[in-house]
Formats: sequence, structure tokens, C-alpha cells
Amino acid sequence: MDGRMVGKEEEALKRNLIVTIDGPAGSGKSTVSKALAKRLSYLYLDTGALYRAVAYLIGREGVSENDEQTLYDLLRGADICLQKSGDVLQVYVNGEDVTGYLRTEEIGLTASKISTLPLIREMLLPIQRKAGAQGGIVTEGRDMGTVVFPDADVKFFLDASESERIQRRFMELSNRGDGIPYGNIARDMRQRDLQDRERTVAPLRPHEEAVIIDTSSMTIAEVVEAMLRIINDS
Ligand code: C5P
Repeated sequence: MDGRMVGKEEEALKRNLIVTIDGPAGSGKSTVSKALAKRLSYLYLDTGALYRAVAYLIGREGVSENDEQTLYDLLRGADICLQKSGDVLQVYVNGEDVTGYLRTEEIGLTASKISTLPLIREMLLPIQRKAGAQGGIVTEGRDMGTVVFPDADVKFFLDASESERIQRRFMELSNRGDGIPYGNIARDMRQRDLQDRERTVAPLRPHEEAVIIDTSSMTIAEVVEAMLRIINDS
């Protein structure tokens, strides 16, 4: 990192920007978003965690994701909110920090299914907008640039080849000790991609102003540096 870049980062810090990062699973969004937020000293918001928290809640309460009425009743009575912990926003459900329970394949698939329901998206929208109201935030998801923060200062869309994304997910889960076979990860990722891209409400797609970065053959550091250059030139 050179001195010039540090100066530029300070400039971005003062500007309190909203930076959105959308993209499919395995595109490198989470790692890159966290690293970028850290470099800019901005808040980091993982909006997938909100959809995962809903999936966690319905699993815990034994409600089927297909039973829409019971699902809505359950959610209307639930208190889902974000609370700051350092520079990260954690998800709380009825006063309990559930952030640590959310990163399983099963919860990811259920989250993808319930995220097609308009009422759930509507319920989660104000929580996300409130978190970004002051700016100074890097926020990642599927519809950050298109729906939640259409006036964001800088919008990115990260992508990578399907094989690379499956491989990254496989490595992430293996390193965590989850012995899920490669074939199952590939199947689940294809299913999730299809659901996320083809749903009618807020489908996964780049905003027309988004800078699209193909991360297939880039390191995390290279992606972050490329983004910082774009932010500084914005
Ligand atoms: O990013 P993550 O894998 O945690 O997201 C889980 C699921 O939540 C996604 O597959 C997607 O269906 C949904 N999601 C969404 N909109 C967002 C973030 C996540 O629909 N902004």
C-alpha cells in the first residue's frame, strides 16, 4: 500500500459514501466487502444474514417455507434488527444474536427460497435502509444497487465462473470442517443461482451503473485495490 492510497482512503472516509456490492454466491463478495469496509473504516453490512436469520427462525419454529400465512404471522411477531459490534452489523432475532448460526448450506438454501416472497423482502427493506442512512457503509447482497440503495455513490457487481465459485465454496466449507461432497455443493449452488436470478421480485442482476468485476482469476487483494481505485475516482 503506498502513501498516496492511504491519503485517498482518508478522502473516501470523509465522504461517507454508500458502496454497494452485489453478486452471486461464491463471487468473493463477503471477503471483499469486509476487506474494503476495513480499508475505508466504513461499516460493513451483510444483508444475506437478514434473509438467513429469517430462514433460521422458521427452521427453529418448525414452520414450512411453503406455508406462507403461518410464515408471515411468525415474522410479524418477530423482532429482527441489526446491532453494531465494532464496525460490523450483527443480526438479532427477538433479542438474541443469531449471527453465528447462519452460515450453513441448509440455511442458505432456505434463505434463497423465502427471499422470493415479496412480503419478506418488504419487511427487511427498512432495516437495511436505516443501516445505510448515515452513509459510510459497504453493503453486500443481491439487490443492493438495484432496489435497496439505488442512489448509492458507487455500485459494484462481482461475478466469477460457475466452476470457480463452486470450488471456492467447497474450499470454504472444507476448511471449516464441513465434509459436504463437491457434487452436493455444485447442485445447491446451481439451485440457488437459478432461484436468485429468476425470481420476479428483486432478481439478482447488475444495476446499469454498476461496475462489473469478474473475480475468477483475481486475488482478494487485487479486487479490493481495483475497487479502491474506482471509489477514489468517483
Ligand atoms: O449472500 P448469502 O449467501 O448470505 O445470501 C443468502 C440468500 O439470501 C441468497 O441466496 C439470496 O437468495 C438471499 N438474499 C437476497 N437479497 C439480498 C441478500 C441475500 O435475496 N440482498
